[in-house]
Amino acid sequence: MTFNNIKDFKPTLKASKNIVITTHKNPDGDAIGSSLALHLFLNQLGLKSTVIVPNDYPEFLKWLPEESSVLKFEDNKSEFETLVLDADLIFALDYNAFHRTGDLESVLEKSTAKKVMIDHHQQPDNFAEFTFSNPEMSSTCEMIYHFIESLNELKQINSEIATCIYVGIMTDTGSFRYRSTTATTHHVIAELINKGADNTKIHNSVFDANSFNKLQILGTALKNLNILPEFNTAYISLSQKELNEFDYKKGDTEGVVNYALSINNCVLAAIFIEDEKNNIIKISFRSKGDFSVNELSRKHFEGGGHNNAAGGKSNDSLENTIDRFISILPEYKTALQNEV
Ligand code: 5GP
Ligand code: MN
Repeated sequence: MTFNNIKDFKPTLKASKNIVITTHKNPDGDAIGSSLALHLFLNQLGLKSTVIVPNDYPEFLKWLPEESSVLKFEDNKSEFETLVLDADLIFALDYNAFHRTGDLESVLEKSTAKKVMIDHHQQPDNFAEFTFSNPEMSSTCEMIYHFIESLNELKQINSEIATCIYVGIMTDTGSFRYRSTTATTHHVIAELINKGADNTKIHNSVFDANSFNKLQILGTALKNLNILPEFNTAYISLSQKELNEFDYKKGDTEGVVNYALSINNCVLAAIFIEDEKNNIIKISFRSKGDFSVNELSRKHFEGGGHNNAAGGKSNDSLENTIDRFISILPEYKTALQNEV
């Protein structure tokens, strides 16, 4: 992709004295990878920036270059609010609506800084002076690569930046297998390896860092797997009690929903996770083919995301949320059956 209005953006970037990089709540590999890649790239250009994320993220991302410099808004809200409000340029990475940033939302709304969105989710809000939005892109990290390319600065990509970008592309594409993975994605990945990203080490650091408890949670999830053959649907539930039993840590349920989707003829998969602290049921949806979980989640579960991967939530109990999910499936029966 080319960043069409990058020429207009260049002077703003160069003139910025105080840059803050933000991303969405519960940051994933793409969110942290893109934030750190951009931070390191700006460093190379001699531009100072601070990465502020809404809250903590999984251990399997805590080895990334410069990761220790990331500020978590939840740790010191008043101090970090001042940092955000003092910024003259704010990057919004891997999200396209302020409400995706949790408690940072009200601070971002107050801020008078120029905003730059770099994101690949559908239906972006109109809050940024510079909106780089492309839902066809595999990941925000792939967009960061093209952003740097459009600035004619690929020479600045060192092994640390390459590593951060690699992580986000890898995690958001399910290791290069989702439909958003293109020949260009692979070209970018090849270039990142050329620039020093150690692909084997990165895969091991992210995927082979499981704790015993995480695998017990996976075991519990698989025991709770249900199939609804007439809707080509499978779903998993995890109660707070089950999570507590194995000392649940952030990231322990990452990817579990994919086991449901891996069932023969499954078109729609969901996982319902009870979160007593926030008094919600967190839902992840995944789908195959043209069936849009973005639309389903937007319509019924206050969420959204991509065609084949979306999130949502419910304020109801775990049981009632699942009942409601099952009750809406007839609406989608034809669409679900058409994908097989
Ligand atoms: P996950 O199921 O892994 O939490 O999210 C899947 C995808 O949907 C991710 O790209 C994530 O950013 C997006 N997503 C998750 N929750 C929401 C939500 O509540 N609203 C929107 N618009 N996107 C979401
Ligand atoms: Mn992403």
